[in-house]
Amino acid sequence: MTIAAISTAVGEAGIGIVRISGKKSLEIANKVFKGNKVEELNEGHSKRLVYGHIVDRENNKIIDEVLISFMKGPHTYTREDMVEIYCHGGIISVRKVLDLVLKNGARLAEPGEFTKRAFLNGRLDLSQAEAVIDMIRAKTDKSFETSLNQLEGSISAKIKEIRDILLEMIAHVEASIDFPDEDIEEVTYEDLEERALKVKEKIEKLLETADRGRILRDGLNTVILGKPNVGKSSLLNAILRENRAIVTDIPGTTRDIIEEYVNIDGIPLRIIDTAGIRKTEDIVEQIGVNRAKKSVEKADLIIAVFDISRELSDEDFQIIDIVKDKKSIILLNKIDLPNKFSKSYIQSLIGDKLIIETSVASGIGVEVLEKSIKDMFYSGEVEIHSDTVITNLRHKNQLEKALENINSALNDIRNYIPIDCIEVDLKNCWDNLGEISGETIDEDILDKIFSEFCIGK
Ligand code: GDP
Repeated sequence: MTIAAISTAVGEAGIGIVRISGKKSLEIANKVFKGNKVEELNEGHSKRLVYGHIVDRENNKIIDEVLISFMKGPHTYTREDMVEIYCHGGIISVRKVLDLVLKNGARLAEPGEFTKRAFLNGRLDLSQAEAVIDMIRAKTDKSFETSLNQLEGSISAKIKEIRDILLEMIAHVEASIDFPDEDIEEVTYEDLEERALKVKEKIEKLLETADRGRILRDGLNTVILGKPNVGKSSLLNAILRENRAIVTDIPGTTRDIIEEYVNIDGIPLRIIDTAGIRKTEDIVEQIGVNRAKKSVEKADLIIAVFDISRELSDEDFQIIDIVKDKKSIILLNKIDLPNKFSKSYIQSLIGDKLIIETSVASGIGVEVLEKSIKDMFYSGEVEIHSDTVITNLRHKNQLEKALENINSALNDIRNYIPIDCIEVDLKNCWDNLGEISGETIDEDILDKIFSEFCIGK
């Protein structure tokens, strides 16, 4: 079936693109297109731009002036024959052109269907197809780079490496089971152990990158915590002011929780500014407080703000309690005003945590805070751009399952369990990894993955 969709974002723009893919692409294009110099599009026009008009032949009405490009498969995005029609931008033109294309034999594409076809036709493996979604959604240069790297096949290559070792092991084990008398070199437990260890190490190494990968993809979940009036909003504004590359504004700011994305030298920071945690009777406020507590649970980092110009109150002590055993940075704000307590006093209450004195209203200390966040992020061993990073939760889950299975195999090998039992774990491990690249995968999971795409991709 030949599919079509608008592939550009809908709205006012210079051009809009209608994309068609499938066997009948060329035929449909010729039904709707009338070239100025070209009688009819044919295979000779592959990958050339042709100028002309989209015409509704039923009433001979010109719909739009366009450039059209026919691309002969298999060297296309989907590996099928494709056509792209470059219309004038805006909502009306592309819509009308798409309608006409649909009327002439194409079906409206589902979200992600072009990429799904690229996968099903073997042009991309699953992890590469998923990288395409991530690229579209990337919020910083670094997360874009990581996705691009993944699209180029960096994860696929690592997974293949591990699966190759497993396959060799499985083949060797099977040969010893099936043809014990023949002249095949016997598998030894020592040899199996050595190879299983290699598999285990490689899986663990990939898994180590996952936390950092999630942060790159979704942002470092940062919660600003503090009782009312300590300067939380002022801090948020100061950070936003200094990092003008605000990537996303989340509309629909609630009464108590504001969510913003900022980009500090490539680290996406998802900042949640809470109403503070306090007991309240007000229902609306209650919702905010509950949400604040929830965001604290899920936070990668808490910035706890205290007002040094006021005595510490019960609420402050509550907050100290909450952040004590969480990854957090303490801000003592309003140092421009007379101090009511000292840094060392707070330090004695909170233990070994970074404390920064600030006056966020005048921007003092904000840079130190940003540098500290950066240092925390980069102190890990994993180099972001040079290494393959697992950014996808589904991949992480599969790697965890694979690790469990190889550990079980390793355990059996060390206990000299009969090798046909070991083989089961090895095969499971091989399957788990195959689901990352999509070599062994359920139709349902596939549908779910591709439904996350936007239409036209
Ligand atoms: P929030 O309720 O925690 O979000 O606090 P706000 O950011 O709204 O700040 C409360 C008040 O404290 C405002 O009037 C700010 O101008 C003021 N404020 C914030 N930071 C400072 C600071 O560093 N020094 C002084 N003197 N005032 C500040």
